[in-house]
Amino acid sequence: MTDCLFCRVVSRQSPADIEYEDDAVLAFKDIYPKAPVHLLIVPKRHIDSIARMEPGDAEVIGRCFLAARALGEAKGFAEKGYRISVNTGPEGGQVVYHVHFHFTAGKQRGPGA
Ligand code: 5GP
Ligand code: ZN
Repeated sequence: MTDCLFCRVVSRQSPADIEYEDDAVLAFKDIYPKAPVHLLIVPKRHIDSIARMEPGDAEVIGRCFLAARALGEAKGFAEKGYRISVNTGPEGGQVVYHVHFHFTAGKQRGPGA
């Protein structure tokens, strides 16, 4: 049993509301949503952080963005737009050390917000 929370979600050892899955990527609802739509998009393979990303990880990270695009279209935000963000390291606000992209949508954002 891994001690990585998101690896446990990927292997279904921990529950999550899964919204998207393919061979390399999983997306599920954030348990504490900060926007009307708040999903976490993760590579199925464990990568600690963007600060530990290696050249061989580039494809799966790109696949996370393709998943974001698919989610944006499926949820009706392709035209309205959405935000994708990634916290990196302690001062970047990263709490879970398995790379994840926050997909948030459904709320008007001001410039720089
Ligand atoms: P970070 O601060 O590392 O960028 O974001 C971690 C995110 O994971 C937070 O938005 C937090 O609400 C979410 N989170 C923490 N624990 C769980 C959990 O057990 N399940 C789900 N679905 N999300 C979680
Ligand atoms: Zn992991």
